[in-house]
Amino acid sequence: CSPGHDRAVRAIQITEAGGPDVLTPTELDDPVAGPGELLVEVAAAGVNFIDTYQREGVYPMALPYVPGMEGAGRVRSLGEGVEGFAVGDRVAWCEQLGSYAELVAVEAAKAVPVPDGVDDDVAVGALLQGMTAHFLVNDTYPVQPGDDVLVHAAAGGVGLLLTQLATARGARVIATVSTPEKAELARGAGAADVIDYTAEDDLAGAVRALTGGTGVAVAYDSVGRTTFDASLDSLRVRGMLVLFGAASGPVPPVDPQRLNRGGSLYLTRPTLFHHVATPEALRTRAAAVYHAVADGSLDVRIGHRYPLAEARSAHEDLHARRTTGKVLLQP
Ligand code: NDP
Repeated sequence: CSPGHDRAVRAIQITEAGGPDVLTPTELDDPVAGPGELLVEVAAAGVNFIDTYQREGVYPMALPYVPGMEGAGRVRSLGEGVEGFAVGDRVAWCEQLGSYAELVAVEAAKAVPVPDGVDDDVAVGALLQGMTAHFLVNDTYPVQPGDDVLVHAAAGGVGLLLTQLATARGARVIATVSTPEKAELARGAGAADVIDYTAEDDLAGAVRALTGGTGVAVAYDSVGRTTFDASLDSLRVRGMLVLFGAASGPVPPVDPQRLNRGGSLYLTRPTLFHHVATPEALRTRAAAVYHAVADGSLDVRIGHRYPLAEARSAHEDLHARRTTGKVLLQP
């Protein structure tokens, strides 16, 4: 603590890029709510795959920093000029604000009200990953009834939600996963067919066989390096490859002629933050996802909870493909 502060909050800090062991439990000065900010007691912090890219330096961060793009909790105090929130309100957020901590200052414009009927853990589990699944099926490629849709890593945080939302729009989902347990989860989320892509030599051939040789209308690929070629080769004529992550590593440069040869294909690389760029867009999308959770049409699976101090284990497990659904840290 610096002089003048007699309180400290527990947090996880990163002082150098690296493996999970750089996630260091520490104590920091109590944050205060600046003008326009809410000071929030964190009930649950979300662990997302992007946290691992930032930790490794793939997405460079100013050091030192407290990781964490996502959380939910209760408002403890209000900064100057805040309107529309009161002490005690339940809110959630998805911004790089350092959510691996007991207390976080959240800009009011970036805070989303959490409705009754959505508990704190689910509020986190549905937010970043739920809004991602939501824009992917509604905006990037609006899934149509009867579409064949390929979803990679379908038992993961985004994957389970994406599978449910695509199925709800009338698609037939072909899922990929790495274990029988994950296959069961993907089926439970609505997948009609599940492929173990770690055991399949000809992934595109297997997907084509499941679509009568036609190929899928859209491939949602967050795995990247190891699946990209198969995703492209799985598409129907004028199909779309939506590359939205790189869990297995980045994809090398692509020759645009491959899109021609594949059948006038589309390739896009979208990001959530361009789909929630204004406070209105953020609130509207979050409300749509929370509504689906509250009315029971979207199931959020909290796969793993770790004490805050064990953030390192959470990252190790996420990286080693040992997790399913949402991974949470609890201060
Ligand atoms: P997940 O829970 O889906 O975890 C990643 C999964 O990827 C693993 O469980 C694993 O599933 C699969 N995977 C395949 N190959 C590897 C590998 N070599 N190393 C590790 N995992 C691998 O994570 P999230 O739901 O947090 O994120 C999923 C993806 O979506 C990430 O790529 C993330 O960056 C991306 N994303 C993108 C967003 C955007 O706006 N563009 C927003 C949110 C997430 P299995 O064992 O079945 O193979």
